[in-house]
Amino acid sequence: MPASIPVTLIPGDGIGPEIVEATLTVLDALGAPFEWDRQSAGLAGVTTAGDPLPAATLQSIRRTRLALKGPLETPSGGGYRSSNVRLREEFKLYANLRPARTLIPGGRFDDVDLIVVRENLEGLYIGHEHYVQIDDDPHAVAMATGINTRAGSRRLLEFAFAHAVATGRKRVTIVHKANIMKALTGIFLETAQQLYEKEYRGRFAMDTVIVDACAMKLVLNPQQFDVLVTTNLFGDILSDLVAGLVGGLGMAPGANIGEDAAIFEAVHGSAPDIAGKDLANPIALMLAAAMMLDHVRLTPLATRLRRGIDQTLNMDKVRTGDLGGSAGTAQFTRALVARLQG
Ligand code: NAD
Repeated sequence: MPASIPVTLIPGDGIGPEIVEATLTVLDALGAPFEWDRQSAGLAGVTTAGDPLPAATLQSIRRTRLALKGPLETPSGGGYRSSNVRLREEFKLYANLRPARTLIPGGRFDDVDLIVVRENLEGLYIGHEHYVQIDDDPHAVAMATGINTRAGSRRLLEFAFAHAVATGRKRVTIVHKANIMKALTGIFLETAQQLYEKEYRGRFAMDTVIVDACAMKLVLNPQQFDVLVTTNLFGDILSDLVAGLVGGLGMAPGANIGEDAAIFEAVHGSAPDIAGKDLANPIALMLAAAMMLDHVRLTPLATRLRRGIDQTLNMDKVRTGDLGGSAGTAQFTRALVARLQG
């Protein structure tokens, strides 16, 4: 095991500090060799450094190239631009991985084990939007521009295909809307088909599905999917959908991986409605930490962490309120630590 691996730690807003502390406690119990550099962002960045993405935080990630991040609050409508989107752009975090796996059998769906790979930098997320005034209505017309490039699509698809091969996945489904947005999502579909034919045929099966049909199929029978690869906005929506299939946002981790850094986080937001009340489910961030352990090739520790979570939920039956249990964040964490040390 390496002596120590420097990682930027961003506790974040709302429930962020609670779930981050819980995650640090279990990583300590595992003996994970991380050396944390604590930095701020989001609302906490504004209050402590006058900036939702302070220069010191960026410098730290530039140095460590690795970050574990709590959720960051973004004001809707006006206010500052999302620090999450800025982080993705700054470090060219072009691939967003969101696995969804059934952790508690007997729920809505058993045996779901799929992963959504989302393009993270292009599409309708680039923020080129404006209003057009007509007569005295300044917001009479709203316009947004989406941009997908061949190079950006290819970079993401290469990552997704390589990940599918490395993790032994059997089937990759390209999700698109090329029947309507023929250019914007057609370029992604076309690039996927060319890359598959040229370099990947025979290593896994590839098929394609239109995003609306994909949403229906996921709700009817999610076990039919293995790896879903898609553009930015569709990936954002579908990855929340698949989180709902396996017990909600409290169970959904995410990794943002790019050329310059990798940032691991929970898919959910800062949950201001339950912040500071010891009610938050810390599993999503703990599973994100497991993805980070995989990323730095400490897979045995990742496996122990996932197994410990499984045992705490299903053998000890210690669960937070969002999973129908009565445990608080701290009680769940203590039970998990006992499993890891047992
Ligand atoms: P949210 O994910 O914070 O909350 C949605 C619902 O899920 C709430 O009822 C909340 O209590 C519940 N919930 C979320 N995580 C939970 C957990 N771990 N345990 C138990 N319950 C949980 O979404 P929102 O309310 O739309 O957003 C709140 C803020 O978070 C906004 O400012 C938004 O911009 C931000 N946000 C940040 C990220 C991120 O940093 N990656 C992601 C999404 C939203």
